Amino acid sequence: MTDEFNTEIYYDDDVDESYLANTTVAVLGYGSQGHAHALNLHESGVDVIVGLREDSSSRAAAQEDGLTVETPEEACAQADVISVLVPDTVQPTVYENAIEPNLEEGNTLQFAHGFNIHYNQIQPPEHVDVTMIAPKSPGHLVRRNYESDEGTPGLLAIYQDYTGDAKERALAYGKGIGCTRAGVVETTFREETETDIFGEQAVLCGGIAELIKVGYETLVDAGYSPEMAYFECMNEMKLIVDLMYEGGLGAMWDSVSDTAEYGGLTRGDDVIDDHVRENMEEVLEQVQNGEFATEWIAENQANRPVYTQLNQAEKDHEIEEVGERLRALFAWEESEQETESDDER
Ligand code: NAD
Ligand code: MG
Ligand code: MG
Ligand code: MG
Ligand code: MG
Repeated sequence: MTDEFNTEIYYDDDVDESYLANTTVAVLGYGSQGHAHALNLHESGVDVIVGLREDSSSRAAAQEDGLTVETPEEACAQADVISVLVPDTVQPTVYENAIEPNLEEGNTLQFAHGFNIHYNQIQPPEHVDVTMIAPKSPGHLVRRNYESDEGTPGLLAIYQDYTGDAKERALAYGKGIGCTRAGVVETTFREETETDIFGEQAVLCGGIAELIKVGYETLVDAGYSPEMAYFECMNEMKLIVDLMYEGGLGAMWDSVSDTAEYGGLTRGDDVIDDHVRENMEEVLEQVQNGEFATEWIAENQANRPVYTQLNQAEKDHEIEEVGERLRALFAWEESEQETESDDER
């Protein structure tokens, strides 16, 4: 699959922003990504209309931020580029009701994640471009980095190039939101979708949450205090990951004690053993063969019974209660928590 990965990285100088001149971009949704894309494009001089339902609680925020707001239907009718930034689970409905009836020849459908295109939940007509600029970051950082003249790395993918200019236009969009300041790498809708979903399930969200909980439970079940277990298994995770983010695994191994390094290198693969590798391969297969997508689509159609139950069970885990109590005791955590809840918009 490495052959799909074009290692060329696009920066600001590689982009001709005139591809978005005399163009109107409809940004549908004003959540994590939506607010960042809309504001960054607007400040980059692009003509932006935010598309939100009449009863959307985000309307006031977008208007206060100085943006033009219309209904999704009206925004799409006026737009040349339609940026689909409502949640993945509602995109097919929004596509059917607001986008499809207003798609004109030569328009661009722009995504930040490939789920609905890759799993055929949205099937665009042949006479439009279908592109992806996917910032590899939560939306609040896309906005914050833009404001501080930094960039956010991103992915570029072209699913359909009707006009012959799909890539140039997508890159102009990427420049408008600040991604080409940091660098944009080309991939495909398939590769972005499958690696993104595998990553969040096996490592970033699912894997790490289970690792933390099982570590915590192992210590508490052996009679150690919940407070100690919390600090060892949850709190220190951030400090360790910060080191990896800055300098790779090497920076982490250099920074911890030799005892931690020797113990980690000899015992880590006893914990995350071949059985875990087989489990990951199974998880990847369900992403590749569409089994996970089918399950998640059905779960949403059934009003999320499993999701609701698991979401509550996670909130009820003892480590959450211990953590809330401990974080409140440490002033240095409080300012971080404020930033985090502010980030959740
Ligand atoms: P979000 O949940 O933060 O926000 C969605 C917004 O859509 C809401 O704020 C609301 O304004 C609007 N909305 C919700 N339901 C709607 C409906 N029925 N009709 C019209 N508008 C509605 O979404 P998000 O996390 O920004 O995700 C948007 C896209 O970006 C997705 O494709 C996602 O995969 C992708 N993405 C997200 C992140 C991230 O950091 N959250 C990162 C990379 C890519
Ligand atoms: Mg994802
Ligand atoms: Mg230690
Ligand atoms: Mg070993
Ligand atoms: Mg399971």
